[in-house]
Amino acid sequence: MARVAFIGLGNMGGGMAANLAKHGHDVRAFDLSAEALARAKDAGCLATDSAAAAVDGAEAVITMLPAGRHVAQVYDEILSLVDAAAILIDCSTIDVATARAVAEQARARGVAAVDSPVSGGIAAATAGTLTFMVGGPAESFERARPYLEAMGKAVVHAGASGTGQAAKLCNNLILGATMIATCEGFVLAERLGLDPQVFYDIASKATAQSWSMTSYCPVPGVGPQSPADNDYRGGFAGALMLKDLELAMAAAADGGATLPLGENARDLYRAFGEGGHGGEDFSGIIRMLRGA
Ligand code: NAD
Repeated sequence: MARVAFIGLGNMGGGMAANLAKHGHDVRAFDLSAEALARAKDAGCLATDSAAAAVDGAEAVITMLPAGRHVAQVYDEILSLVDAAAILIDCSTIDVATARAVAEQARARGVAAVDSPVSGGIAAATAGTLTFMVGGPAESFERARPYLEAMGKAVVHAGASGTGQAAKLCNNLILGATMIATCEGFVLAERLGLDPQVFYDIASKATAQSWSMTSYCPVPGVGPQSPADNDYRGGFAGALMLKDLELAMAAAADGGATLPLGENARDLYRAFGEGGHGGEDFSGIIRMLRGA
């Protein structure tokens, strides 16, 4: 088993670091938050008092931070300190440009790095059932794989540096737009006097079927258990969906892609947050669309 540095022990990173420790890795954990550090200690990690102390002698360095600027800052801090034989794995969801820049910075110092954002929320991070989409050279992917397998159920190589982030943003662009379309379908069905359960029974077997419909139905009491059944608590916050849609739209601007539906989805999630609902699950946008 290896010595692993884990930086960023929040909602996602806390569970991920715990799973690495459960698999027998010697996890040296760091977070700016004392509470997050204490939780990691309880989960079998060794709490350190700086990112520098965490990476000392580490064979793998995993980061799970809020946004690109945090990742760039931590990489600035640790790049001159990490072992040249270490593999750097950034699991945060960040912009493609920063993902490519930090990987290039690492390579310039002779250190291998991959971007490896995740699909699956806090429950999947805790259960060790995340899906990882990995960008970086094939050899770096193979070195990262065993650590990712200790935290997830699927590990996929997306291609060169930055393509893990690209896959994540494109996936969540589709998810955000599909959720809104699913909500609109239910709102119109209700207005036309269709019972939501009957509409679900039809649409889930017809061409409107999607993950947003059949695995995460936005209407309470319809379909399998979902955050809608818990008053839209838990799950994937609207604020995080807005973050991902903003990253997707920034990537579209950089790449010269026009995404009218994505732009609308971003604006609707922005309005959802401005209405004070950013902490609710993203499927709760159905209440805004109903005008309720
Ligand atoms: P979070 O805010 O709960 O955790 C981030 C942690 O990073 C915090 O504990 C914070 O103290 C720490 N941190 C910030 N700057 C730091 C620094 N310089 N050094 C050390 N620690 C620092 O966020 P989260 O929900 O765990 O999300 C982490 C990443 O995963 C984000 O990029 C998010 O978009 C992505 N993500 C989240 C979910 C989800 O459902 N929460 C799902 C998929 C992907």
